[in-house]
Amino acid sequence: MGIATLDLNNGQTIPQLGFGVYQIEPEGTADAVRQALEVGYRHIDTAQMYGNEAGVGRGIRDAGVDREDVFITSKLNNGFHAPEDARVAFDLTLSELGTDHVDLFLIHWPLPTLYDGDFVATWKTLEEFYRAGRARSIGVSNFQVNHLRRLAQEADVVPAVNQIEVHPYLLNSEVRAYGAEHGIATEAWSPIAQGGVLADPAITTVADRLGRTAAQVVLRWHVQRGDIIFPKSTTPSRIQENFELFDFELTQEDMAAVSALDRGEEGRTGPNPDVFDYVPA
Ligand code: NAD
Repeated sequence: MGIATLDLNNGQTIPQLGFGVYQIEPEGTADAVRQALEVGYRHIDTAQMYGNEAGVGRGIRDAGVDREDVFITSKLNNGFHAPEDARVAFDLTLSELGTDHVDLFLIHWPLPTLYDGDFVATWKTLEEFYRAGRARSIGVSNFQVNHLRRLAQEADVVPAVNQIEVHPYLLNSEVRAYGAEHGIATEAWSPIAQGGVLADPAITTVADRLGRTAAQVVLRWHVQRGDIIFPKSTTPSRIQENFELFDFELTQEDMAAVSALDRGEEGRTGPNPDVFDYVPA
């Protein structure tokens, strides 16, 4: 069964399911991406910070899939928010990937305690890439509601997506609701909390009843909520398993049982975007 696609607020479409390459070693990335494309994935999520954009580009070429048939996302690294640095970094992203455009380019973190809190200037630089057609869509990642409000007041282009941590232990409902109200699609990162939710009895009970794996149940839960996901794996059987989400359905009760696992802020596994200030050396 084919992967669902979603319409972004600028008329571009995005496959709802993709393949994430965070923490895949640069040397192993081409192979993982090629495998994912052979399974049928057509959306790859990378970032400058992951150090593996070149492997993503090579994997696509190795698979013999047309560039135009793959949706590629990358993200601006934290040390490059100053407009002149962002321009150089973006040029490098395109050359590492071996393409003249990305489908989506994101500000990876808002870094409100750095750069005088000025992520708006950074955003306006991404608007340049968008207007030039070198990024077909632009968006943000890890933006909180107050960050999104500020962009709405001070910038022209509404982000196409906000990529945030979302999984059954952290529903991140406020940020998600703001996105839904303002046409900003939510991308859920660490959709299975890096495996941390898979042993939960509420999830395994549903999985056992449906004859599916816990990972499939959680990923399907995201799909039915309408979020975009890109689970990561380098294990061929899991790459395949995580792709098989469009031939079964969760009931309303199943959906509610998974959503009831929300632990609010305590469920967060990654950094808090309000204070995160890491800049790679
Ligand atoms: P994830 O929730 O996708 O979990 C990945 C881990 O779960 C794997 O390393 C593997 O150990 C395990 N796993 C995967 N499939 C499994 C299966 N079927 N059964 C059992 N275990 C399985 O976590 P992630 O990689 O952190 O997130 C996915 C993607 O989101 C990343 O690759 C990256 O593209 C993106 N991401 C973005 C940000 C951001 O700040 N924007 C942060 C983290 C991740």
